Amino acid sequence: MTDHLTYLFLGLGNGAVYAAIGLALVMTFKSSGVVNFATGAVALYCAYTYALLRSGELMIPIPGLPKTVDLGQPLGVAPAMIISLIIAALLGMLFYALIFRPMRNASVVAKAVASIGLMLFIQSLIALRVGTDPVAVAAIIPLKTFNLGDTSLPTDRFWLAVIVIAIAVVATLVYRYTRFGVATEAAAESEKGAYLTGLSPDRIAFSNWALSSAIAGLGGILIAPLVTLNPIAYTLFIVPALAATLVGNFSSIWLTVVAGIVIGCLQSEAINLQTSYSWVPKAGVAEFVPLILILIFLVFKGRALPDRGAVIRQPLGRAPRPDRFLIPAVLGVVVAVIALLATAGSWRAAIVTTMIFGVLGLSQVVVTGFAGQISLAQLTLAGVGAFSVSVLNTHLGIPFPFAPIIAALFAGAIGLIVGLPALRVRGLPLTVVTLALAVFLEAFWFRNPSLNGGTTGSPIDDPRLFGMSLGIGSGEAYPRMGFAVLCLVVLLACALFVAWLRRSRLGMSMLAVRANERSAAATGINVPVVKLAGFGIAAVLAGLCGSLIGYQQTLATPDPFTVFVGITVFALIYTAGVTSVGGAILAGIMAPGGVFYLAFDRFINLGDYYTLISGVLLIITVMANPDGIASRLPRIPFPAVRIRRPVAVDTTGAQGETPQPNVTDHTALAIDGVGVRYGAVQAAEDVTLKVHEGEIVGLIGPNGAGKTTVIDAISGFAPATGTVVLDGLDLGAKRPHERSRAGLGRSFQDVELYDDLSAAENIAVGATNGGDDTRVAVLLAMLGLDEHSKTEVSSLSQGQRQLVSVARVLASKPKVALLDEPAAGLDTNESRWLGLKLRAACADGTAMLLVDHDMDLVLTLCDRVVVLDLGRVIATGTPAEIRDNPEVVRAYLGVPADTAVDLHHDGVPELMTQESTP
Ligand code: ATP
Repeated sequence: MTDHLTYLFLGLGNGAVYAAIGLALVMTFKSSGVVNFATGAVALYCAYTYALLRSGELMIPIPGLPKTVDLGQPLGVAPAMIISLIIAALLGMLFYALIFRPMRNASVVAKAVASIGLMLFIQSLIALRVGTDPVAVAAIIPLKTFNLGDTSLPTDRFWLAVIVIAIAVVATLVYRYTRFGVATEAAAESEKGAYLTGLSPDRIAFSNWALSSAIAGLGGILIAPLVTLNPIAYTLFIVPALAATLVGNFSSIWLTVVAGIVIGCLQSEAINLQTSYSWVPKAGVAEFVPLILILIFLVFKGRALPDRGAVIRQPLGRAPRPDRFLIPAVLGVVVAVIALLATAGSWRAAIVTTMIFGVLGLSQVVVTGFAGQISLAQLTLAGVGAFSVSVLNTHLGIPFPFAPIIAALFAGAIGLIVGLPALRVRGLPLTVVTLALAVFLEAFWFRNPSLNGGTTGSPIDDPRLFGMSLGIGSGEAYPRMGFAVLCLVVLLACALFVAWLRRSRLGMSMLAVRANERSAAATGINVPVVKLAGFGIAAVLAGLCGSLIGYQQTLATPDPFTVFVGITVFALIYTAGVTSVGGAILAGIMAPGGVFYLAFDRFINLGDYYTLISGVLLIITVMANPDGIASRLPRIPFPAVRIRRPVAVDTTGAQGETPQPNVTDHTALAIDGVGVRYGAVQAAEDVTLKVHEGEIVGLIGPNGAGKTTVIDAISGFAPATGTVVLDGLDLGAKRPHERSRAGLGRSFQDVELYDDLSAAENIAVGATNGGDDTRVAVLLAMLGLDEHSKTEVSSLSQGQRQLVSVARVLASKPKVALLDEPAAGLDTNESRWLGLKLRAACADGTAMLLVDHDMDLVLTLCDRVVVLDLGRVIATGTPAEIRDNPEVVRAYLGVPADTAVDLHHDGVPELMTQESTP
């Protein structure tokens, strides 16, 4: 027992640092919405500055200048610490001014990706300036001991934890009781909120960045005597610190600090278990602690779909549909073969490396560019491929090509596990999981002597096919043409596959999920399955890349697959262009050991500055050019090679006469006793209504009456009581995409289109659920959108966007369409015109429930109208009955009935024609 307590106690030191970095993370997030992955690197910078000051030197962080300035004599603890903390605070302010202030309106994910670039930059800068040799730092807290049972324990860890807890107490008090604290909390909600407190949000952010950097720096300094200074270990403190911050939900200082300390203690105890029990794995248990904590947190906190208003807009660039890829592919192969034949030695090796990393780039394109999930674990998955090939070769005797195929499938299975949390979370927490998993796999597998072949690495047999060696060779013959051709074939196959994927329904579904999970689910897309498919496919590609790296090196070793190389390569792929095949190939060219790398390395000693430049390029890309370099390259106007025959479309009738209503007795949709409660708000109560075949039913009521809530309840987006029956099928237990597939379409009040896709593609995504290309063309023609079919919807007018969202719902010919304010943003003429088109679609087999504030549209178009007020149905009837219903007039118009029902000449009440009624 004492043994366990001892280890738990010893973990207080690391725990305190995680807590300090976690506290700094919370502060920067509160004030500026940045999850700063570089916080560990700032702690590192500060610790090195302190260590050098103590030996009488000041670090100069500018490459080209002398590495340090001699101060003449060593500084004492207090002055060294004060100067280091001031430098840390200044750095925090500098980073905010240069990077995060210009990005203040960017999404949380974009800011975090920029901070990943910053992390690479700081870490490599320090490695360049002071090297990577561990540095010993003299004790700061006096070395005293106390006895726990028979064991004598140092008190410094205890005091370290006390100091961090004291800082947390002060921070809590400041945030709770000072105007600065209140303003920071208000700024977390919105910039305007901060102005209300009389403080400028900029000043608040600058102060928080200065303070948080100083706190992280203090953590770094205080732990330096206990854990030898080393750039990589310190920078990776960010992983457990992020786990702690997730527990505190990026807002609670207390939960974060306690979680940080607990993680440190548990990691220490994990190492105790590792040495004490033979059944505990001999490596990776400490790294497993934050990973498991994050996973537990995600299971409990995550939501399968984002809430209304919580839609995550991705910062990723456009992913253009590759219309022309056969000719570029043939040309690319010809160029590659000529280049391979014309070169030998290091240049040919660089071309080979380019091709191998091109495959990794394609893997990132699938998971990040298409599926929208920022994964930092792709190179780690390549490592899984390489080590698996070795196991398959040496232990199971499985030869080429089966070994790399099985290894890639195994990497795919691990990729699915990496992707599992994506079912419950999105955005940043997922990025944190991929990072934690990469750290774990590196420690548990790649660096585990009992799994990785020990110091000599895991051997991999040369690939052979039909008796012919495809190995990389050695000596004069290195690298052999056979291996180069193997890499080219794999790259070509993967590139064609990814281009096909982008054009396929699955690819469009991925882009739809990336753009907007809620509306993707509403068009029948199974969001979790599509996300998992993205992770799985990308991991298979990464696994293939890993096998090629293994064959290239003839053995599997951890160094090519470390977390840091992985993050560097992620930065490069993002910079090159994470959304297109061209970007992936360019990433290969820019990759470590690739053609560009070699070319530059010949002139300047690029190798040393490679990670540093990657970090800077990543920051610039996120800030200025999210589409990546590939999108800026001149487009070669290759003629399009049609893969499918053009679809003959008969659009006659699309503009035809509007049919008369033909309502039958058959109930298309029946909801009974539907209720929805949000905390204390009863948003809908005992709502009962029916929509018959061929019928358009209006659902009206004042703002906040519960109309959208009823649509959410019917379509499965809000947890509801009561029953929802679609054409005889009870939808009660079905999820949104299942309801959509059963024939229930819906649009969203705030349109929620897939901004990265063209108008035609948006509608085609809707058609994945039953429609086809012909239907897309008919709808485009019917709604007058044909000339915009290839236009990205983000550049359409509000009215056109509305029409696309309606067309997307109608694309799958649903039995019932729930339309939430389709006429918002349309003028009176456009809205009447829309009404005619809706009537035509209704005659074509789609009954409708229409929510709109445009009373002219509702009362002229609908066959019946249901009125909601305060979540309850207060009237149902024909438009004429509703117009004359005094209770409706009172609740909806707020004026005496006799003035409100004064009819227009066209039968529409004058007051009701105001679009902004109530
Ligand atoms: P509008 O015409 O303005 O769109 P509405 O009739 O569609 O209004 P709802 O948006 O359904 O009304 O809202 C009904 C009530 O439920 C409102 O009081 C709203 O504040 C509340 N509400 C809606 N969604 C949520 C939610 N996710 N959490 C808490 N309350 C909610």
